[in-house]
Amino acid sequence: MKVTRATFNDVMVPNYAPAEIIPVRGEGSRVWDQNDVEYIDFAGGIAVNVLGHCHPELVSALEEQGRKLWHVSNVMTNEPALRLATKLNDATFSERVFFANSGAEANEAALKLARRFALGTYGEEKNQIIAFNKGFHGRTFFTVTVGGQAAYSDGFGPKPGQVDHCDYNDLAQLEALMSSKTCAVMMEPMLGEGGIVPATEEFVKGVRALCDKHNALLIFDEVQSGAGRTGNLFAYMGLGVTPDILTSAKSLGGGFPIGAMLTTETIASHLKVGTHGSTYGGNPLGCAIAERTLDIINTPEILNGVKQKEALFRARLNEINEKHNVFEEIRGKGLLLGCALNDKYKGRAKDFLIAATKAELMCLVAGADVIRFAPSLVIPDSDIEEGLLRFEQAISSVIGEQ
Ligand SMILES: *Cc1c(COP(=O)(O)O)cnc(C)c1O
Repeated sequence: MKVTRATFNDVMVPNYAPAEIIPVRGEGSRVWDQNDVEYIDFAGGIAVNVLGHCHPELVSALEEQGRKLWHVSNVMTNEPALRLATKLNDATFSERVFFANSGAEANEAALKLARRFALGTYGEEKNQIIAFNKGFHGRTFFTVTVGGQAAYSDGFGPKPGQVDHCDYNDLAQLEALMSSKTCAVMMEPMLGEGGIVPATEEFVKGVRALCDKHNALLIFDEVQSGAGRTGNLFAYMGLGVTPDILTSAKSLGGGFPIGAMLTTETIASHLKVGTHGSTYGGNPLGCAIAERTLDIINTPEILNGVKQKEALFRARLNEINEKHNVFEEIRGKGLLLGCALNDKYKGRAKDFLIAATKAELMCLVAGADVIRFAPSLVIPDSDIEEGLLRFEQAISSVIGEQ
């Protein structure tokens, strides 16, 4: 059966506007489309393909587990899930893990747990959830309401209540909102969708202190920043602040859908038998692949490599900017980088992305003003060089130099 991009409009719900090309296979940081055009991938499936496409170790984990056991439901536990949870607990502050299938579901679990913990420990009044403008936490109705873009949660009728927002990196605003009624503060250690904006050290430390003062839980949404992307296994490790609940997804499965919520034993004890669940969450297939991904990522070679590759990106991007003067700032950490367009090009990130695709480079945007890169953590340096040459070509075409 022949399918093309035009088929999309005939058979799919119109909530996406996918690119004109259809990728059909990938290897490392290269992807080929239906016409066998080869692309360099700086998008990584939106910060997901953390070891590139079809990494041999992940393919073998998939094949090995695929021949053993795919799914049993949570009526039973399974070995890959138990091993993965043990390794996550060993590698982080956490003592207990809940598995889901996506970032939104991991966050949904985190928010529901925070509510149960606060209600159970302090009483019904303690139900306020505070999050940040431009934050993104997923598309379930609770998580999208907690996310800081009303445009994403409007139009669906009454929203879950007791959710408030303030500006990211603005401690005074947060302080003014918090009280003994605050149940939890949910934040990304670096805004991803919201424009690649790192939290300042002063801000995260201040948020932690305010949460402690008001007995509120601090939830770090590390769905995008986690699993090695910033050069630490999780971004909190580079910030000197430990959350009470942490969520992971995207890179965690290296491309296989999985999400995880990590927390302490005391907090976890409030999700008693029957209070929450998922049919597929923690399935052996997904956990086996995530376990192999974690084994590979959580090594000094990979994490130090991220820092070196960041330096390479930054050096070349600065050179490009000196030549063409399009960015106001190059920001982010590790291999989650944003090029914020200067006043002359503000609002045109999408034009650069389209030009990049034409130049056979896949990248991302983060809002209308920022071009985002979230490549594989093991992208060869030569692919970074070649990809940035293509990026420079794309810039030239947008700004009319050729
Ligand atoms: C992508 C993302 C989510 C949502 O993850 P899904 O797997 O799409 O549900 C949540 N939080 C952050 C920070 C994200 O970047």
